[in-house]
Amino acid sequence: MTKNTRILLKISGESLSGDAGVGINNDALEQTARKLINIAETCEVAVVCGGGNIMRGEKFIANDDAQTQNQTQTKKQLLPRADADRIGMMATILNIIALQSMIGALALGKKAKILSSIEVAGIAQGFNRLLGVSALESGKILLLAGGLGQPYFTTDTTCVIRGLELDCDYVVKATKVDGVYDDDPAKNPNAKHYKHLTYQTALDKDLKIMDKSAFTIAQENNLKIAVLSFNQENPLKNLLNNNGRFTIISN
Ligand code: UDP
Repeated sequence: MTKNTRILLKISGESLSGDAGVGINNDALEQTARKLINIAETCEVAVVCGGGNIMRGEKFIANDDAQTQNQTQTKKQLLPRADADRIGMMATILNIIALQSMIGALALGKKAKILSSIEVAGIAQGFNRLLGVSALESGKILLLAGGLGQPYFTTDTTCVIRGLELDCDYVVKATKVDGVYDDDPAKNPNAKHYKHLTYQTALDKDLKIMDKSAFTIAQENNLKIAVLSFNQENPLKNLLNNNGRFTIISN
């Protein structure tokens, strides 16, 4: 891979929240911004950040105490999914603003540009493929906010669609572990690490690395997905040097 390699990197909202797992933590934000700057020294990078540190639409099940106090197992979803998803998409915008600001504050010479599927006047310009490509070609870190701008989607599907639109060589999913295993490596020391997987195997085994719509669109369009650990100074180093641990998903 060369400096001209173009990557669509997916980081989770939790990468900004530190141990708390919720909200935005200054130290975690700084570490993440430094990693993005390191990555941008070695390749062109567009970043999609999730919003799960603030809101995940599909998991937002609220407890209605007044109605369920005699039915302890019953939970009622008070917010319609579409509204919870809208909050989730706004959460991704908050995270991206924080990242842009921290990248600027570190003053390491890298600039970040925000393009958002949901335009926020004065804060986040609307996504446009040509603007995105031009930001990447000029060496800026491209920060993509607002998911796809539609409920019932996730930022995984956003990555694959934007990755295709922006002619990326890889969608890279940065996680807490160094690739895909056949079982949870934190619980099972004998879990098998996959160096390579086909999309179909990932779908058939329901490996939950990304959602099914993301895998299906990647498969139909032959867009490679790499899964690797974000817990390194330059998380893309192994992939770029083609050594060390990561998993590639392709046809
Ligand atoms: N979301 C959405 N449409 C999109 C992208 C995201 O509705 O195109 C919402 C959805 O509710 C999702 C939330 O935004 O749960 C946050 O994104 P995600 O769950 O992917 O964040 P992560 O878990 O990666 O931090």
